[in-house]
Amino acid sequence: MNWVESPLKTGTLWFNSLKTYSKTAAVDEESTRVSCPVCRGTVFKNLWQVESSIFVRCADCRLILQNPQPVRTALAARYDEEYFRYEIENEESFYNLMMLGLNDVGFFENIAPALPQPNRILDIGCATGRLLHHFKQAGWETAGAELCRESVEYGNKTYDVNIRPSPLETAGFPDHHFSVVHASHLIEHVDDPGTFVTEVMRVLLPGGVFLCVTPSSDGLQAKIFGSSWRSVIPDHVTLFDRKTLRRLLETAGFSVLAVRTWGGLAVGTVPAWLKKPVDRLAKKWGFGDVVLMAARKTS
Ligand SMILES: [Zn+2]
Repeated sequence: MNWVESPLKTGTLWFNSLKTYSKTAAVDEESTRVSCPVCRGTVFKNLWQVESSIFVRCADCRLILQNPQPVRTALAARYDEEYFRYEIENEESFYNLMMLGLNDVGFFENIAPALPQPNRILDIGCATGRLLHHFKQAGWETAGAELCRESVEYGNKTYDVNIRPSPLETAGFPDHHFSVVHASHLIEHVDDPGTFVTEVMRVLLPGGVFLCVTPSSDGLQAKIFGSSWRSVIPDHVTLFDRKTLRRLLETAGFSVLAVRTWGGLAVGTVPAWLKKPVDRLAKKWGFGDVVLMAARKTS
């Protein structure tokens, strides 16, 4: 057994110039043991403990996940008014980062022109709906799914972008409806990523594209920092890398179109003169801190 104690993490950690939201798990939270959502394996090696969260690695596909992990209702309860304030404070920064990601993966240039029509986007974990607002202004039909009720109310009132206060699995979106499903920094929070991507597949039109952004556990920062990596927090129940995310998507029937990573080293960990070239190389060689995978529903 390889059991490494992690330094205690509280509050927020710097995420480049942005903070990663991290909530301490409630002491009476209900949790359950799970099989690996990528390969269905049941053999795990203990990796780290962060507060009361136990991170393990699947012996077969090497996915990192919390096991046992909080049940869905316990996870949902974490996205409260405090979370809304965090989202509002960072609304424009997150929006700009999402747009940079979409540009990087060639969404506007290569992917959008080949989408099934009409142009309809669903943003899952859409927070205040800022990205949906952009698409609505560009003439798209929009929909969102968001657990944080304060964010839903704010988004619908401010942008009128049709956000439902629900996880995707119970939001009631019709089959074969959207040309694009976007989920940024969401899949690492969901309790059953296998069921989640199957649902994404269901609501997409044939030929539609899923854009999935998540921390990359084979990035440089994850390798350097181990259990102190800023993405190893109680709110992240699954930590993918490029290989495990691809396998999850392909198992659900997606065909991966493009993969990009970005973010070499976080602000404050190295001098500014070093950060820029490392960021550039991280993007070029795929060892960035965050991965964006674009995948098409081929069936
Ligand atoms: Zn596995």
